[in-house]
Amino acid sequence: MGTDFSKKTDATGPAFPSDEGGGRPPVPASGLAALQVLVVEDDPFLQELTHEVLHSIGVPEVYGAEDGTDALVIMEAAPRLPDVIICDVEMQGMDGIVFMRHLASRGFNGGIIVLSGTSSRIMNTVADLVRRHDMHLLGMLKKPLQPTELTRLLEIAIPTNKAPRSEKVLPGSQLLTRADLRKGIDEGYVQIALQPKLALATGQLVGAEALLRWNDPLRGTVMPAVVIPVAEDTGLIDELTLTIFRRAAECEVVCRAKNTPLSISVNLSVSNLSALDLPEKLVQIIDETTADPRRMILEVTESRLMENLSSSLEVLGRLSLAGFRLSMDDFGTGFATLEKLKQLPFDELKIDRAFVSGVADDPMTQAILRSSIELGRALGLTVVAEGVETQSDWDALAAMGCNEAQGYYLARPMPAAVFTEWAQVFGAMTDAG
Ligand code: C2E
Ligand code: CA
Ligand code: CA
Repeated sequence: MGTDFSKKTDATGPAFPSDEGGGRPPVPASGLAALQVLVVEDDPFLQELTHEVLHSIGVPEVYGAEDGTDALVIMEAAPRLPDVIICDVEMQGMDGIVFMRHLASRGFNGGIIVLSGTSSRIMNTVADLVRRHDMHLLGMLKKPLQPTELTRLLEIAIPTNKAPRSEKVLPGSQLLTRADLRKGIDEGYVQIALQPKLALATGQLVGAEALLRWNDPLRGTVMPAVVIPVAEDTGLIDELTLTIFRRAAECEVVCRAKNTPLSISVNLSVSNLSALDLPEKLVQIIDETTADPRRMILEVTESRLMENLSSSLEVLGRLSLAGFRLSMDDFGTGFATLEKLKQLPFDELKIDRAFVSGVADDPMTQAILRSSIELGRALGLTVVAEGVETQSDWDALAAMGCNEAQGYYLARPMPAAVFTEWAQVFGAMTDAG
């Protein structure tokens, strides 16, 4: 299997897999030259082309695998794991999706670049999977590979900390340090993208979810799956959340001023619920921005809610009293019982996309989705489905009496300024029709 693939192509450096026997004194490499990259691609021509592109941008150590199985064998044998894996999605043999699952189960913590010639929908599914497994997604690239794009993504993976590479690093921590976060919060790297929520019965725009987009001049856009864990681990999550909330509150004000009043949802980290002064701080931002708290929805992930229940209960209770609406996010992934649901002051149930995308083809998922919707409605909650990716997802939800929907099929997250314009046009269209 893959004998010619697994051969390393070497521009300058010592031979794989160890540093010994290269016949040259080891020179401490820096920048892109310090990276080991594994290319998983079944097309021999594209495999070779990718090696050439990597060499041309200064990455000397490049290995190849013809599919996921081959890659796992190579990684098993190597003394050191690659810093970055560039992986094709469709391959003969083990495809990119299955390979990602195997990488996750082995705790792979290097960078991943997803490469595909097909639709961006498949790429997004794979990217989503990578993030869900808490792996570092550096980005997605369409074939043919552009050297500048590839360089930009690889630069994110250049090790900046002094820790030895064998050390197990937390997801994202090699990409952003506390100092990076501190600087970015102060210098305005914290931005939001807004993803519309539509009413299933009328198709009307009812709100939007604000999603963190960290816009770093060096790294480009860094996704929340990378930023949030670092903020949680370094004690900056409260400040980060307040900054995001302020942007979202400003957006609520702008939408209302443009005659398209909407509710704006903000994600809270469970760590935020340990800060007993969170309600006061959010109310202060409401006062300063003149946003309407009844149009601000705070989403809390179900699976992590029980981590610190007593302080969470107090904070959630006071947030509810202050007029904010509360949403239980990713519903279905945790173990919220009817008992707990009744006990907590939630207004909205947001069903995880695992039970939404592709529901029409899967009777098991249908059963879970239907009972979640019924449960939410019986408790008087607004039920929102996320991850609506197709017309048939939408139709199934409408038939089951779900209230609202969000997902790529309706609209992707967009920058705040674009969203407020889009909302006006969309609002006018649906009002007219
Ligand atoms: P989430 O709260 O479940 O947010 C929805 C995520 O699903 C977003 O990813 C969104 O881009 C993606 N998405 C939307 N529609 C679809 C779809 O149709 N199909 C698929 N496959 N995905 C869809 P994003 O922006 O990468 O955010 C990932 C997660 O990071 C969020 O999941 C949320 O848990 C967290 N997050 C995002 N922004 C913040 C934030 O400001 N604060 C905190 N604490 N967490 C945040
Ligand atoms: Ca959410
Ligand atoms: Ca979710």
